[in-house]
Amino acid sequence: MTDTRVITGAQLFDGEEFRGRHDVLVRDGVIAELRASGTGGTPLAAEASTDGRIVDVVDATGKTLTPGLIDCHVHVATDGAGSLDAFVEPFSLQFFRAARNLERTLQAGVTTARDAGGADAGVKAALSDGFVDGPTLYAAISIMSQTGGHGDGRMASGAHMPMLTGHPGRPDGVADGVDAVRAKTREILRAGADHIKICSTGGVLSPTDDPRHSQFTVAEIEAIVEEAAAQGTYVMSHAQGAEGIRNALRAGARSIEHGIFLDEETIELFLEKDAFLVPTLQAPLAVIAAADAGAALPTSVVAKARMVAETHRESIAQAYDAGVKIAMGTDAGVGPHGENLEELELMAAVGLSTRDALRAGTTVAASLLDLPTVGRVATGYAADLVLFDGDLEQAGLSEARRRVSQVYQGGMRKR
Ligand SMILES: [Zn+2]
Repeated sequence: MTDTRVITGAQLFDGEEFRGRHDVLVRDGVIAELRASGTGGTPLAAEASTDGRIVDVVDATGKTLTPGLIDCHVHVATDGAGSLDAFVEPFSLQFFRAARNLERTLQAGVTTARDAGGADAGVKAALSDGFVDGPTLYAAISIMSQTGGHGDGRMASGAHMPMLTGHPGRPDGVADGVDAVRAKTREILRAGADHIKICSTGGVLSPTDDPRHSQFTVAEIEAIVEEAAAQGTYVMSHAQGAEGIRNALRAGARSIEHGIFLDEETIELFLEKDAFLVPTLQAPLAVIAAADAGAALPTSVVAKARMVAETHRESIAQAYDAGVKIAMGTDAGVGPHGENLEELELMAAVGLSTRDALRAGTTVAASLLDLPTVGRVATGYAADLVLFDGDLEQAGLSEARRRVSQVYQGGMRKR
């Protein structure tokens, strides 16, 4: 058991900027000290060892040290969302899959994640009790939706989509009207939700609705936001069409998920409300890739994914240029788990600078989740850290996934 660890010589991205080569001292799971490497004087490692504690020295020369990444949109209890295969799976298999998915997510370099529907309080307890390894998880549990909306899994066939099936720890998320959505929000918070996930437009994976159409009225969303705020939390809204995005923003949603169809008026509203955009560029691409690989997806779902992918990239580029706060989210669960850092590659490909894409996955994400001790490499912050091979400032993010070499969570090496 190592009390103290010094990571030496890595190029540091501290959550805001590249800072050049630094040595970082980790003690009791927390970042205790940082110092520029090779500036003369006593090395941090030698100094730390004099207090008699065991020091593990990690020579990270030639690597880049960043905060552990934060994925603001995952579904750890889901695999291949929307696939018709899920209809024949045993109910409880999702929880065993969640354990594996959490492990893969952590191995990918994600030390904190926000679940956007599926994982329940039991999944969180399994993590905090140490039964399974994974990122620190904040969970929406259920997905709130109007009748016939993106989160209403009832099909015209009479079947109910397995991912959204209610159970004792995960209330069914469908409600209509101000009073009913108010009660539903309280019910989901009672089940242990850390935040509330709603759908204010249609989506790609719901076979019968249109991503451009809005869902829930502003009055309904306002009631949900008010109930969440009364319990000290906030609303994240799945929103793809411009009008449904604006409805959610006007009503006070803290983050817009996907944000596929943006226009100037909508981007202005993001800035005015100081809201966050979580692009999930991976999601439509994952649906297309799954379909191309022969997955059993409804044809309407695949057609919608193809329709939105290019528009999505253009919208995110436009929002970035306008200065909208962008936080990293992947929608993992639609695509495979453990490929989360592809989102960094995709954000870089639509024009985010290396610095801003990394900020999206660290400081900006921590600010969205309102977490004061993660997302930075700074004294007093949790020692959640990733080491990448090479100098990311020079190399960029096009191979971010392949470069992940070591992952630390609370000072413990996980990869
Ligand atoms: Zn999602």
